[in-house]
Amino acid sequence: MGSKLSVEGSVQVVIVGGGFGGTAAANQLKSHGIPFVLVDIKDAFHHNVAALRASVESGFARKTFISYKDSYQGSFKQGRVVRIDLRTQTVVLESNEEIHFSHLIIATGSDGPFPGKFNQAVTKELAIQMYDGLVKEVQKANAVVVVGGGSAGVEMAAELKTDYPEKEVTLIHSKTALADAELQPCVRQTVKDILLRKGVRLVLGQRVSNLNELTLNKVEENMELRLDKDAEVIAADLILCCTGLKINSSCYIDVFGDDVASNGALKVNDHLQVKGYNNIYAIGDCADINEPKMAYHASLHAKIAVTNIIHSLTEKPLVTYRTGPVTMLLSMGRNDGVGQFNGYYLGRFLVTLAKSRDVFVSKTWKEMGQKMPK
Ligand SMILES: Cc1cc2nc3c(=O)[nH]c(=O)nc-3n(C[C@H](O)[C@H](O)[C@H](O)COP(=O)(O)OP(=O)(O)OC[C@H]3O[C@@H](n4cnc5c(N)ncnc54)[C@H](O)[C@@H]3O)c2cc1C
Repeated sequence: MGSKLSVEGSVQVVIVGGGFGGTAAANQLKSHGIPFVLVDIKDAFHHNVAALRASVESGFARKTFISYKDSYQGSFKQGRVVRIDLRTQTVVLESNEEIHFSHLIIATGSDGPFPGKFNQAVTKELAIQMYDGLVKEVQKANAVVVVGGGSAGVEMAAELKTDYPEKEVTLIHSKTALADAELQPCVRQTVKDILLRKGVRLVLGQRVSNLNELTLNKVEENMELRLDKDAEVIAADLILCCTGLKINSSCYIDVFGDDVASNGALKVNDHLQVKGYNNIYAIGDCADINEPKMAYHASLHAKIAVTNIIHSLTEKPLVTYRTGPVTMLLSMGRNDGVGQFNGYYLGRFLVTLAKSRDVFVSKTWKEMGQKMPK
């Protein structure tokens, strides 16, 4: 618990986006007793780090959606922020409601295809049903193709082959090396070895040229994926897409103009303040910081932003965010994993221990002040 701060009545921190960054900021503000409003389009936090396990294991999805209202009560507001008004210091929701801020934390993150990401404005119950529905499709399928061999794609292929070793699983990736470019070559090679050992077929250095014409996430017989280089056609009855994350910039791109990088991320200074604004911070995937986009980093950013808000209220010097050597753990199914910690190779045993999906998820439930459902 942080120590409670006595603040002026005019202080209200607004956090736009309740992902890993936004909820970490909310938890810290709550523990310091600083008034805040967390705004998100959904009614529940989605623990998307465990979304791939929820795609293969029946009933797991219920553990990956945590109600905001139960954690933050009246400090949560459901709605989509469509505009930030710098003159009046308000965020404007789609419903036209305006929420005044003394300090603003922008944590709108990124969007990508289901099942890795789930950024739809539907109820928690419907979201859970969609994941449980996908598990049923996976169970019906014989030949599953995963498109995209970044960190999400390799984890997806490994989860599938771990729980359903009898199914044909093919991973198609546009590059020859798998997982994130920021990982050491030996880590990327181990990822490849694990997938081959599990029996995943790898098609590397090829793009799927007809993905737009194919049905995703639903079993359909005799689907054919065409490649951009080889004439070979890959057959599938279920296709899962793990490519193409995009930064959610729509609510701020107009107002910050020059301070938005070409990928849509907000340029920030060392204190994580949006350049030119000392009461506006950007954290997580939507902050333009040269490091892998990760939940782990989003929570580190949140700590810096909240500390700096407290320091600015108490007239202390601001703290600085420094990117460290890469730490990234990949779960390759329930029983395997690989990664690096502070730049050092971490083998199977340690990663499996450190990154059991259940441990990760239950830690988040605790941080949000709730008990994980059985
Ligand atoms: C399949 C997968 C597995 C991953 N595994 C790991 C892992 O093991 N470890 C790790 O560290 N990272 C992992 N990552 C990366 C991690 O998920 C992201 O880096 C992290 O989610 C970023 O957190 P964030 O808070 O910046 O944004 P997000 O988690 O994307 O959250 C943004 C939130 O903002 C809301 N929002 C967006 N726009 C608006 C708006 N206009 N108004 C209101 N609300 C809005 C969204 O609804 C969402 O809730 C994984 C990513 C994927 C896709």
